[in-house]
Amino acid sequence: MKAIRVHQFGGPEVMKLEEVPDLRPGPGEVVVRVKAVGVNPVDTYIRSGGYAAKPDLPYTPGMDAAGVVEAVGHGVTRFVPGARVYVAGTLSGAYAEQALCKESQVHPLPDKVTFAQGAAVNIPYATAYRALFHRARAMPGETVLVHGASGGVGVASVQLARAAGMKVIGTAGTERGRKLVTEQGAHHILDHRAADYLSELQQLTNGRGVDVILEMLANVNLGKDLTILARNGRVVVIGSRGSVEINPRDTMSRDASILGMTLMNAAESELTSIHAALVVGLENGTLRPVINQELPLAEAPRAHQAVLEPGSYGKIVLIP
Ligand code: NAP
Repeated sequence: MKAIRVHQFGGPEVMKLEEVPDLRPGPGEVVVRVKAVGVNPVDTYIRSGGYAAKPDLPYTPGMDAAGVVEAVGHGVTRFVPGARVYVAGTLSGAYAEQALCKESQVHPLPDKVTFAQGAAVNIPYATAYRALFHRARAMPGETVLVHGASGGVGVASVQLARAAGMKVIGTAGTERGRKLVTEQGAHHILDHRAADYLSELQQLTNGRGVDVILEMLANVNLGKDLTILARNGRVVVIGSRGSVEINPRDTMSRDASILGMTLMNAAESELTSIHAALVVGLENGTLRPVINQELPLAEAPRAHQAVLEPGSYGKIVLIP
């Protein structure tokens, strides 16, 4: 089978499409014939060698994919060959024609969800779910600002918060992105490239501020986020690409909390619960991953450039 292999950390060009041996499942394992692969910003951080957790070289990148079960190992009870699935992490890497997974990393993909959409589920939706419900403990009726709502995690956050009965305010940097966020269920949309755009929040919340902020770019926004929180407000730091200055007094006056989060910290039991909820959301249509671009697997280097460019519109997927 063909797989993208990385033999040294570096720029997108270190990813090469190579022929590698076919995969066979061991006990408790599943081999998936991959139909689509989700591209996430973290894949680029790992490939560059700048991420804390470094894989042994050579490796195949990627954690998200969807496809059809090809073979199951001894003791696997939840899947039979032919089942449509999405995967949430792999043992072998997702940028490939086949992926080897633990049974617990595989989840059913409802018939009405395409393989490309299935590849867009894991990191974006599990991150959004964990941030919103497990970290912020957001409740129906609360107001949520999805600060960076046009990308993978942002679209997932808007759909999850809206379905749970929250008032949703999203931000995006382009007209196309703002239209998308509105279509996905945001009650209000702001332009995070406009001057003083957060002042509009006071009007939108009748001067009260927002209860929860899901923050995709904390190094730019955290200082201002703390000034627009309601009392007992929570900011969940999902993404950050540098350092930032804050005024701690802004948290004191509001009894506010800054909550960090990394999906990789989630325990297996937590992930089981998150994916149970996501599968139901995919089944009942409240969760509808948005695909911006499908590229051939060999164009993984181009996908890694595109995923870091501004002007997000849902997800980029690779097709083996
Ligand atoms: P993505 O698809 O590339 O989306 C990036 C988002 O950030 C877009 O909505 C983009 O909007 C927005 N953005 C750009 N400038 C902004 C600004 N000044 N203020 C607010 N938002 C801004 O990436 P993603 O997959 O959604 O991930 C988002 C971030 O979370 C990344 O940094 C990623 O590494 C991180 N992440 C962390 C975890 C975790 O476990 N903690 C998990 C997944 C992702 P426009 O393009 O419209 O300007």
